[in-house]
Amino acid sequence: MVADSHEHNGTEVHVACLMCDVLCEIPELGPGEQGACIGCGAVLSARSTYGPGLSLACALASLVMLALAYVYPFLTLESSGLGHQLSLISLPETMLAFGRPGIAASIVLLTLIFPTILTLLNISVLIPFHFGMTAPDYAIPVLRWSHHLTHWSMVDVFVIGVLASLTKIISLADITLGIGFWAYMAFALLGLVSFWHFDRAPLWHWTEPHIRHGEHKAGIAT
Ligand SMILES: [Zn+2]
Repeated sequence: MVADSHEHNGTEVHVACLMCDVLCEIPELGPGEQGACIGCGAVLSARSTYGPGLSLACALASLVMLALAYVYPFLTLESSGLGHQLSLISLPETMLAFGRPGIAASIVLLTLIFPTILTLLNISVLIPFHFGMTAPDYAIPVLRWSHHLTHWSMVDVFVIGVLASLTKIISLADITLGIGFWAYMAFALLGLVSFWHFDRAPLWHWTEPHIRHGEHKAGIAT
């Protein structure tokens, strides 16, 4: 993200550039358009070509894939006639058995709990936005929490870690990748596509009646 602060004034959005600190006015962008900094040219805001529909479809599909990843075996290891099946659901338990409670907790939080909450939060605003409904009261806190959680969803780090481990293990044992493995890869990919097309700027525009209502109430209170 390049932009570090958003100010809403009517239908305009003012964004401070993180690269050069210039305050830029971002007009309402059309699908596939980008808003760049007038000082340094850094992209401050970009609209997805396909709109929120693709983000929503990928988010819903990613949850199905995550469920499959936890139901089916992740991989099977075979060495010297002995086989061992690993599944995502048993992975934290295995880590606990090896005396690694920190890793067990990290796996559950960073690869399951946080990505699931993030996806559900995004879906909860994408459904009313996509179907042209007015922004619900929860839209503003949901967008804020969704922004914070993006830093704590580490599905991509887990995928890279798994692939790196596989390249080491492959020389020690025969590996058979299970349905759970492919489902988790699909979950990671769909989640990434959903995140790329999750346009925050139009969503913030959409919540502006609530922001103005909040500012009006604060004005009366002071
Ligand atoms: Zn700039």
